[in-house]
Amino acid sequence: MPKVMVVGAGAVAQVTLCKLARRPDLFPEIVLASRTFSKCKDLADRFPQARIIPEPLDADKVENTVTLLKKHKPTLLLNLALPYQDLALMEACLEGGVDYIDTASYEPPDTPLYEYKYQWAYQERYQQAGLTAILGIGFDPGVTNAFVAYAAKHLFDEIHYLDIIDCNAGDHGRPFATNFNLEINLREITQPGRYYQDGKLIEVPPLSVSQDVRFPEIGIRRAYLIFHEELESLVKHFPSIRRARFWMTFSDQYLLHLRAFMNAGLTRIDEVEYEGHKVVPIKFLQKLLPDPASLAPSYKGWVSIGVQLRGIKNGVVRTAYIYTNIRHEWAYADCKAQGIAYTAGVPPAIAAELMVAGIWKKPGVWNVEQLDPDPLLERLPGAGLPWKVVIDYPLDFIDIPE
Ligand code: NDP
Repeated sequence: MPKVMVVGAGAVAQVTLCKLARRPDLFPEIVLASRTFSKCKDLADRFPQARIIPEPLDADKVENTVTLLKKHKPTLLLNLALPYQDLALMEACLEGGVDYIDTASYEPPDTPLYEYKYQWAYQERYQQAGLTAILGIGFDPGVTNAFVAYAAKHLFDEIHYLDIIDCNAGDHGRPFATNFNLEINLREITQPGRYYQDGKLIEVPPLSVSQDVRFPEIGIRRAYLIFHEELESLVKHFPSIRRARFWMTFSDQYLLHLRAFMNAGLTRIDEVEYEGHKVVPIKFLQKLLPDPASLAPSYKGWVSIGVQLRGIKNGVVRTAYIYTNIRHEWAYADCKAQGIAYTAGVPPAIAAELMVAGIWKKPGVWNVEQLDPDPLLERLPGAGLPWKVVIDYPLDFIDIPE
């Protein structure tokens, strides 16, 4: 029977494990390897119905991962650590002859640039080795890519405009917290906003473009244009897209804190000297603020993530809005998680199922939209992530030019 190895024991990994642990028929043995061994042990104890083997691992060192792969002989590695580990883990999988899945594109620690070029460069080696790598299968990226692939397959002859919209309307009761790893999250949103228009990447100052959006079941929230990695792969794989943008909602309270942190230099990613020690301000800030997983018990309210598309079907212009709405409380009831970790952690568990079943096995390195979206989308509702399609009733906020 196939064995899988999960790397990382944080907020997202907890959800993926919660789902994998319920399928001993598919995953009779799960190796859980991460930097802090005690977290692996705690998680293994939390799911006693599954056979989870905890292991300490510094995944920055390829040879350490290869040693573990040789010891346990999994067929698949799920990288739920941080984007910094992507390349080292892809290397290790090649050496160990193991398929690979992650949820976020590689970024160099010293430059917050989200580009797939580092991981796309593995295409030939994975193909030659007969191994499959699936990049970015969380919710966004991940399910959002599958929504676009579904739209291209079932709803449109050509897609021209794409807006991806991520709304967290929940309340965790803390003055400020991020919903997944703070360092990764703040590196992303403090960058200039970027979007694709007619083949060009257009840059605007950080958080300088925003619109009010009326979300189903939620009401109006302010959404800010930011860059997100799936835009790069989606415009490449669907070249008919003329404009692709990504929006994320933030509350005024969130932005007030964020701007203060930025102004004080606390989101800096370079080292500063402090009393003879080298300190990276964003890492220090992360130590001070709540662990995203700890928000789960008190989190209440909706999360809504979707894609709005406009294009042509049978010569007629149409729009489609494809989205998932869930509540943080539902995520807690199912997996003792908050909604963001849940939306990110469920899809890799389904991807693991599709890989071990051979359904998504395809040697090479792939973004999610390059795979058949139907098997993923068919399984999402049963796994706790229902989704809907609304045709020709677009969200009322986005100005889409003729
Ligand atoms: P956390 O910080 O909660 O967890 C990360 C885990 O990785 C921790 O257990 C950490 O160990 C471990 N880790 C870090 N460095 C190493 C290393 N060198 N070797 C081994 N283990 C290491 O992050 P999240 O769970 O919030 O996020 C996990 C991933 O999911 C991130 O890449 C994030 O970008 C991605 N994500 C994707 C989303 C999507 O929709 N596509 C949405 C949200 C997140 P330690 O416990 O010691 O710190």
